[in-house]
Amino acid sequence: MALTEPEAGSDLQAVQMRARLDPDSGRWHLSGVKQFITNGCARILLVLARSEQGSNDGRGLSLFVCESGPGLTVQRIEDKLGIHGSPTCELHFDEVPAELVGARRRGLTRYVMSLMNGARVAVAAQAVGIAEAALRAAVAYGAARRQFGQAVDRFPAVYEMLTRSKARIVAARALLYETTRWVDLKDGYDDLAGQQGGRLTGETRNEAKRAARIAAVLTPLCKAYSTEIANQVAYDSLQVHGGSGYMKEYDVERYVRDARVTNIYEGTTQLQHVAAMGGLIQRVLDPLMEQMSTLPFEGRLARLRAEVDEARQHLGRAVRFVVEAKDPECHDLAARRLCEAEAEVFTAYLLLRDALADPRRQALAEHHVAEAVPAARAGCDAVLRADRTLIDRREEILGL
Ligand SMILES: Cc1cc2nc3c(=O)[nH]c(=O)nc-3n(C[C@H](O)[C@H](O)[C@H](O)COP(=O)(O)OP(=O)(O)OC[C@H]3O[C@@H](n4cnc5c(N)ncnc54)[C@H](O)[C@@H]3O)c2cc1C
Repeated sequence: MALTEPEAGSDLQAVQMRARLDPDSGRWHLSGVKQFITNGCARILLVLARSEQGSNDGRGLSLFVCESGPGLTVQRIEDKLGIHGSPTCELHFDEVPAELVGARRRGLTRYVMSLMNGARVAVAAQAVGIAEAALRAAVAYGAARRQFGQAVDRFPAVYEMLTRSKARIVAARALLYETTRWVDLKDGYDDLAGQQGGRLTGETRNEAKRAARIAAVLTPLCKAYSTEIANQVAYDSLQVHGGSGYMKEYDVERYVRDARVTNIYEGTTQLQHVAAMGGLIQRVLDPLMEQMSTLPFEGRLARLRAEVDEARQHLGRAVRFVVEAKDPECHDLAARRLCEAEAEVFTAYLLLRDALADPRRQALAEHHVAEAVPAARAGCDAVLRADRTLIDRREEILGL
């Protein structure tokens, strides 16, 4: 999927690759440069290009499919930090014949957005997998390595890194599965609508809309949460290895490098936060959280549920505060903290729900709540503090 260009990364509306329709043959031809293209040396490429000359936004872009051949040059293969299993290419197009995919002008707004949403869930899964591999390596190393007469995983500082990583992975995986569930529902309703001539009616229509809204918030939230967690877990897993972790001889240094791209490609974490904010502010996930909150928890789980409920109310206050401030810069500045808090609270409910179904998961849920609730509260406190230092005095801070 060739989208990125030197001047169009996060901002894909700026894509300049030219698509020219030859009036005689009726064929399209692509000219321009694409960069950072995974498997760009493959035989078939999907390319986002500007089909409407004179346009300068996403509505002038269409999606094309083309084959490698004359006019298409792999100019370079990047020398990069990680994921060395796949080549990342700079591609030069010079009048490369191509076929239009689907409807003209819908390249970015319909097809690429849809492909990217699918890819974002896949990258979240990739991140959970890397994190799991890193943790397994750290657990094995921590049990085998002895210092001061005992295995290093007996030291609180070490087992705290391992257990925190475990809880984070389980939370990310729970969020990933919940996301895939809603994405599958949305896709199912889309298929149904297709079979019924594009129209759903009554309750089915409402359910389809609900699934689409939930999938649209969960996808970026899950991508941001899982990929940031994969980086933290890989980092801590290397730390558990001590100096050995820094050596190529051990797999863990590769996990650190491979995790690093997951929160960059298919949209950076910052862009995921931008994408999640609309639905977050509309509290799209609140009914799901309310539903989980009313499960028949008892004893210790009921007390934990009350803590999570309280954190959710605090999050609601922080969101209302940002909405009422009506200040776009404050809104953007609060995005990271609100998205992180939303993910912490949502995953806390998921893990309590899972602990209710399987008591063996209770300790893990307790540990996650003990980490997630204070983290969410601290983020919301920072938002509610309404400190304008970063807006008014960031140059002073950076200039020191
Ligand atoms: C290994 C690898 C493989 C890749 N494979 C592909 C591929 O197959 N196909 C493809 O098309 N692309 C691919 N990419 C490109 C990738 O999708 C982009 O690098 C990514 O989307 C970020 O764009 P950029 O590098 O131009 O960064 P920029 O957009 O320049 O971002 C720089 C910084 O600014 C931040 N930023 C930018 N805009 C905003 C905003 N509105 N709000 C807040 N923060 C913002 C970003 O989060 C980032 O921190 C690949 C990249 C890598 C590293």
